[in-house]
Amino acid sequence: MKRAIGIVGSGPAGLMAASVLASHGLTVTVFEKNRGPGRKLLIAGASGLNITNSLSEEDFAAQYEGSGIDWRKLLRDFSPTDWLAFIHRLGLETFLGTSGRYFVREMKASGLLRRWIDDLREKKVRFQYGTEWTGLTPQPDGRYLLSFADGSQHEFGAVLLALGGASWLDINDTPQWPAILTARGIHTVPFAAANCGFDVDWKPKFLREAAQQPLKNVVLSSPAGDRKGDILITEYGVEGTPVYACGRTGTSYLDLKADLSEKDIQDRLDGVRENLAPLRRAQRALKIGVAAQALLYHHAPADALGSNAALAHCLKHFPLVLLRPRPLSEAISSTGGIALDEINADFSLKKTPGVYAVGEMLDWSAPTGGFLIQACVSQGYAAAQAIWQHASPQ
Ligand SMILES: Cc1cc2nc3c(=O)[nH]c(=O)nc-3n(C[C@H](O)[C@H](O)[C@H](O)COP(=O)(O)OP(=O)(O)OC[C@H]3O[C@@H](n4cnc5c(N)ncnc54)[C@H](O)[C@@H]3O)c2cc1C
Repeated sequence: MKRAIGIVGSGPAGLMAASVLASHGLTVTVFEKNRGPGRKLLIAGASGLNITNSLSEEDFAAQYEGSGIDWRKLLRDFSPTDWLAFIHRLGLETFLGTSGRYFVREMKASGLLRRWIDDLREKKVRFQYGTEWTGLTPQPDGRYLLSFADGSQHEFGAVLLALGGASWLDINDTPQWPAILTARGIHTVPFAAANCGFDVDWKPKFLREAAQQPLKNVVLSSPAGDRKGDILITEYGVEGTPVYACGRTGTSYLDLKADLSEKDIQDRLDGVRENLAPLRRAQRALKIGVAAQALLYHHAPADALGSNAALAHCLKHFPLVLLRPRPLSEAISSTGGIALDEINADFSLKKTPGVYAVGEMLDWSAPTGGFLIQACVSQGYAAAQAIWQHASPQ
């Protein structure tokens, strides 16, 4: 019975733990409240499944916020190379995009998920779908009784919780599990949106020209840092990697011509021979996309278009007021969940020995770029190794 392990949640964190535990010969049951596995993984694949990143170990580890986790060790013990090799062993191809991100060749997540589940079934892992976990009761012999909404109860030698975060859930699907843990004295942090778009008070005329158009290769600067990339103009505001990485409520600045210095821009504007207004000069002398032109025309500060020098400055320091983050239901990930000081280095919960927690249900964060899924599978691997040692005869 010590070698019977219960896993709750069939996202990448739970599935990776199941793979490791099953390959060590432990008896694994995965419980999932949905009718099938990996809903969020499938959603992630809808826009191209970015599985990991080619950054060096040091730069990779620097992407994570969440003190208490030794990110470098985590990524060394189950590295991006290990994760790619795992995917290749399942029979899928991957490729490295120009942005340094790795993707599965077919871009969607369905093939990966299908082969992963098939592989787990071959290893005798059992799946129970439509079973929502509702309770955790320690037994006198150190085992745990898991209770589920359908009234069933199952006892395990160790339990791994991998219930995910709070983003992109249906409107009535607020996670109930924090209350189960709080009742056991485990501190959880309220959820908040991460990697999300922001609202902007766009003028209707601007939207008519620029909605769904990208600001290409711009740099967004905020108190959270600088990030280059494409920003999509939407009806409500902005989306895109620079926004997810550095978006903060308040005034941010856009560098709309990141490949040129302010002086170079002014020289090019001054170099136009015709007697044109600065904005018309910019259209002649600089490659400015539809969205950037509309942004300058409709939203530039009053004095920014009056001279070549002022326009050059504005192109490099365009003020953009981000009103508020989009709601959790639209965010790619969430912060909040189990406070990191509640877990040991091996992802066991300090107050319930024998219970482990991994993935997005812990209070860490990372930008998009493959860092989220990589952290989930590396944590699933680390916890599973610890459970295996815990379950092995001494
Ligand atoms: C639109 C979108 C695009 C994304 N794109 C990428 C990307 O390209 N690259 C990347 O790295 N990341 C991406 N992500 C993030 C990534 O999908 C998540 O970080 C990852 O799925 C989290 O894994 P997890 O195993 O921790 O949790 P999840 O994948 O959320 O899995 C948790 C599982 O637990 C189940 N569960 C919850 N509560 C219970 C309960 N009480 N009982 C039983 N089961 C329960 C849930 O139903 C769920 O299936 C994207 C996310 C979104 C929303």
